[in-house]
Amino acid sequence: MIFLNISLVWKSISRSKPSLKYLSTLNVKDGPYNFVDGEKSHPIDSIGFTNVLNPATSVVLARVALSGTSEVDKAVKSSKEAYNSWSLLSGFERGKLISSLGQKISENLETLAQLEVENNGKPIWEARLDIQSCADCFLYFGGIASTVSGKHIQLPNSSFGLIKRESLGVIGGIGAWNYPLQTCSWKVAPALTCGNTMVYKPSELTPLTALALAELAITAGIPRGVFNIGSGETGKHLCCHPDVAKISFTGSVPTGKNIMKLASNDLKRVTLELGGKNPLIIYDDCDLKNAVKGALLANFLSQGQVCSNGSRVFVQRSIIEQFTNEFVKATTQLVIGDPFDDKTQVGATISKAHAEKVLAYVTQSLEEGAIKLCGGERVQMPHPFENGYFISPCILTNCHDGMTAVREEIFGPVATILPFDTEDEVIRRANETPYGLSAGIFTKDLRRAHRTSSRLQSGTIWVNNFNVTPVELPFSGFKQSGIGVECSTEAIQCYTQLKSVYVEMNDSVGVVEHGEHYSFSIFCCIHLFEAAYLLHPFRNLLVHLRHLDSNDLAEADDVVGVDGIVQDSLERNDLVVDLYHRNLRHLCRKVVHHHLHDNCWDRDLDPNHQNFLRRVDHSFEAEVADNHLPSACRLQWVALEVLHFP
Ligand code: NDP
Repeated sequence: MIFLNISLVWKSISRSKPSLKYLSTLNVKDGPYNFVDGEKSHPIDSIGFTNVLNPATSVVLARVALSGTSEVDKAVKSSKEAYNSWSLLSGFERGKLISSLGQKISENLETLAQLEVENNGKPIWEARLDIQSCADCFLYFGGIASTVSGKHIQLPNSSFGLIKRESLGVIGGIGAWNYPLQTCSWKVAPALTCGNTMVYKPSELTPLTALALAELAITAGIPRGVFNIGSGETGKHLCCHPDVAKISFTGSVPTGKNIMKLASNDLKRVTLELGGKNPLIIYDDCDLKNAVKGALLANFLSQGQVCSNGSRVFVQRSIIEQFTNEFVKATTQLVIGDPFDDKTQVGATISKAHAEKVLAYVTQSLEEGAIKLCGGERVQMPHPFENGYFISPCILTNCHDGMTAVREEIFGPVATILPFDTEDEVIRRANETPYGLSAGIFTKDLRRAHRTSSRLQSGTIWVNNFNVTPVELPFSGFKQSGIGVECSTEAIQCYTQLKSVYVEMNDSVGVVEHGEHYSFSIFCCIHLFEAAYLLHPFRNLLVHLRHLDSNDLAEADDVVGVDGIVQDSLERNDLVVDLYHRNLRHLCRKVVHHHLHDNCWDRDLDPNHQNFLRRVDHSFEAEVADNHLPSACRLQWVALEVLHFP
C-alpha cells in the first residue's frame, strides 16, 4: 500500500523540518471531528462518543462524537449542492485545485506524518512515505484531470455521436485504519478529479488525518462541500442514502459483502478494496538477499496490517534452509519501539482487540502443528509505552496449506513458510484461495517470472519486489479481494459513467437511426444480386427525379405523373435516399412503393424472381407500415451501390 523502493527497506529516513505554515490550523486533535460545508462541526444528532487512542500508549487522543442519520443527511445535502458547481468546472480547473491540495500535503508532510503515527502507531519513516504517496496521488490525478474526456464518433450522412464521460454525483467513501490518509486519498483524488463530490467516513480508530486533509482542501481552494467528513457509525446510512451514487470502501471481505448488499437496494455502484491472503514465491534462482528483503516488506510493514501482504511465503525446497535462516536473522534484528524514533522499524498494533486476534492466530497455528521460529508475542515496552500493543514479528514453519493461519487473513506480523518443488505446483497452490489481491515472485529468470505472473490469479504481481504501489499502476483485486480499481487512469472509469449523444445532421427524425440499421439487417437476409436485379426497373426513374428541383418534386404528388418523366440514364442511384433527406418523404415513399408494385410486377420475371420479389415487397411493406421508410430506400440503394448494377 505504499510506494517504497527496496533499497530503502528498513532504513530510517532523516526527519525533515516540520512545516510551520499550517501547523496551527491543523490542530485537529481538539475537534470537533466532522467537517461539513467547509468547517469542522459537531454532529447535529450525536448518538454517543468514541475514544480515539494512540495505539503506542493507549492515551486518549480525541473523544469523537458519533454522527447519526441527520448528520449524514446534512453532509450529503452539502455535497449534493457543491456538486452542482464542482461538476461544471473544466477538468483543467479542477486539476489545478487538486494538484494544489497535493502541494499542501507535501508542505505539511511532517505534521501529517506525525499525526498519522500518533493515531496509527506505525513507525515515523513509514508514515512519511505514506504521506508522500498521498501528495503524489493528488498531484497525479490533478495532472490528468484535463484528460478526462469522451469521444466523437462519425455516423452516416454527417450525423455524429458523442460519447461523454460524466461524473456520478455524491460518492460515499469508507476508509480503513491501516493507511488512514492513503485509503482516503486513493478515493478522494480520483472521485473529485472526475467532478464528483464526496462524503467520507474515516475509520473510527483513525479519523484525524482525513480531517486534516479536509482542512487542507479548503486552503487549496477546493470549494466547501466538495469533500465532507462524517465520523461515527455513518457507514450503513451512507450505503442506503438515496442521494449517494456510489460507495467506495476499503476494509474486510465480510464488511465489503455487507456493503454490496446494502448498495444493491438502489443499485449503487461500488468499489471494494478488500483483504487478501497473498502468496510470495521464492524460486531457487533468486537473489537471496533481495528475496529476504522482499519477505520483510511483504510481512512486517505497518506491523503486518497490510491487505496486500505476502504472508504465504512459498520457498523452493533446495534453498529453504538458507532462506529461512536469513529471513529469521533479519526479522529478529528489526527494532521494535517508539514509533516516533527514527530507528524504530516495528511500531504498535492498532488496538488491544486486534493484537489479541493476531496472537490468537499464532496460538492456533502452534496447536495445528506449526513451529514458531521467532516472535509472535506481545512485547512489554517501558514507560510511556507500557499500555501499547507491540507484537514481535513472527515466522512460522512446518506449515501446510490447510492450516488456519495459511488460509485466513491475519492482518498482523505473521509469516508462514511453505516449501515447494516445481513451478506448476507452486502456482496451483498459490491460486488455491478465495482471494486474489497481490502476489510476489523472486527469480532471476525473466521467462519464469513472466510465466508465473501470467498464471497467478491476482490483481497486482510484483517481480523481485513487494508492496510497491506507484499511483500510475492500477490497484485492484481478483476474486473476493475486491471490485473496481484504485489509482492510475483506470480509476477514472470507476468514478464516471458514459452517456451517448446521437446528433442528427439531416432533416429527419428518430426513425433514421433505427431504420438504417434495420434496413441493413433485412438487407443481409436477402440475396444481394436478386435485390439489385429486382430494383433495376425503377432505377432510371430515380436517377431522373434526382435532377429535378425540390419544389417541382414537392408538387409532383402523383407518382404516375412523375413516372412520365423517366429517361435513360446510367448514373448512380442514391436518389430515394436523397429525396428522403430533402424532406420529400411522402413523394419518396410513393415512388418506391409504386415501382415495386406497378413496374416490377408487370415485368416478365421468371418464377424465382417473382418469388423473391414477393419477399422483398413483403419486407418493404412491413417497413413502411413501421414507418421505416428509409430502410426500404436503403435496401435498393445499397444493392445497387455494392453490385454496381448496370
Ligand atoms: P471493517 O472491514 O469491519 O470496516 C469497518 C468500517 O466499515 C467502519 O468504518 C464501519 O463503519 C464500516 N462498516 C461496517 N459495516 C458496515 C455496513 N454494513 N455498511 C456500511 N459500512 C459498514 O474493518 P475493521 O476496522 O473492523 O477491521 C476488521 C478486519 O478488516 C481487519 O482485521 C482486517 O483483517 C481487515 N482490514 C482490511 C483492510 C484492507 O486494507 N483491505 C483495512 C482494514 C482492515 P460504521 O462504524 O459506520 O459501521
